[in-house]
Amino acid sequence: MTNTPATAPSVCIVGSGPSGLYAADQILRKAPTCRVDVIDRLPTPFGLVRAGVAPDHQGTKNIVRQFERTLGKPNARFLGNVTVGQDVSLAELRSLYDAVILAVGAPLDRTLGIAGEDQANVYGSGAVVGWYNGHPDHADLSPALGTGIAVIGNGNVALDIARILAKTDAEMTGSDICSHAARTIADSQVRDIWLIGRRGPVEASFTSAELAELGHLSRARPIIDAEALKNATVPEDMDPKIAKIKEKNLEVLHGFASLPADDKPIRIHLVFNAAPKSITPGGLTVERTEVISGRATGTGETETIPADTVITAIGYRTAALDDMPLDIGNGRVTNTDGKVAEDIWVVGWAKRGPSGVIPTNRADSIAVADQLIATLPETSNKPGPDGMNCLLAERGATVVTLDGWQKINEAEVALANEGRPREKIIRIEAMLKAALDR
Ligand code: NAP
Repeated sequence: MTNTPATAPSVCIVGSGPSGLYAADQILRKAPTCRVDVIDRLPTPFGLVRAGVAPDHQGTKNIVRQFERTLGKPNARFLGNVTVGQDVSLAELRSLYDAVILAVGAPLDRTLGIAGEDQANVYGSGAVVGWYNGHPDHADLSPALGTGIAVIGNGNVALDIARILAKTDAEMTGSDICSHAARTIADSQVRDIWLIGRRGPVEASFTSAELAELGHLSRARPIIDAEALKNATVPEDMDPKIAKIKEKNLEVLHGFASLPADDKPIRIHLVFNAAPKSITPGGLTVERTEVISGRATGTGETETIPADTVITAIGYRTAALDDMPLDIGNGRVTNTDGKVAEDIWVVGWAKRGPSGVIPTNRADSIAVADQLIATLPETSNKPGPDGMNCLLAERGATVVTLDGWQKINEAEVALANEGRPREKIIRIEAMLKAALDR
């Protein structure tokens, strides 16, 4: 920290994913005397950019360079391996800093609430994505991948999962998929992947660039019944911006319908109007639906898809953090335009619920940060980062700084197999060892 008076205001951001780091950046730019501590329960920063963005979408992950510059600014600090509710409480953060921003994302998988969901062969997308992306919470998932895999959901996460499971090892060159996951996928005998949408092609929330990727896989072919597209038209009264996205999706789907269905060993079936009803050893039973006033309405007709692995990609919800008020139904922290209390703010998926891409978080975090900046005192009587240092030292916390993260990064790059940018370290202890040279 340089030339910053002891009375400078300070902000603590809980969570070092995109939403937290965009907020940090805005505060550091617009309130240059303010000190900003970004804490994370993991020793590694960058949240979903590291553990959520698909490992074969390295272009998207390049944003970490910008985030590293933010964390490297003179008034910023990264404090990794610090867990709120364990090393420090939310109440303590409030007493130490002028404001706290919750940027904790939505790490918990939503559930379907159907019979058989608790079977061992059913996995949530957060766990599966965390597994192939090396999140320490999911490193041991080791999913049993059968010959038939049903992926429930019609969002970009469902597409990511289907694509990663269908790609060959050669197609993952240049990705940072963890080698344990790459091995399991390479050894799997998957032949059919069903992407299950409870509504129709027009209602699907995926986007066309991601959808089109399914058409370029070396051993897998997307399959769609032309009948499913017969009545799929974009409503005339739809917001033109959204209508354009839907038109593009339909164009890609029509392209899929004209492809040969049996020229590749893996078939990716795009199944629409199919609401999950139960999961049994025989597979996933769905009820056929019609979309009435935007809602999936069951027709009574059922069908069992012979999947031996089921992955739900139906969205996420935020996790409780001390006494933070939760809007359970929407899976987010209760807030008004990002404000939770006088000195507590929330950004990203924890604020809005689990929707939006990285640029969505940028605009949103900047808006919240601007509101917060307007409330910062010119001179503060809060202990700020110095007080945080004392508290963490008292607790014997092992803190990973930006330097520590850079050592983990170097260790991962050094561990990379040929053609891969890194081999992620997946155990906290091993991360700490790399960060602290111990
Ligand atoms: P999403 O886009 O909200 O998709 C969730 C899907 O789950 C929807 O198709 C939804 O259907 C379905 N669903 C929810 N409850 C269901 C139920 N009970 N039964 C059956 N289906 C159910 O969310 P996401 O895929 O998790 O993605 C989250 C955000 O991250 C999105 O904004 C996404 O665009 C973004 N993302 C972007 C990329 C990328 O740009 N490459 C990659 C990954 C994620 P309904 O529509 O009928 O509710």
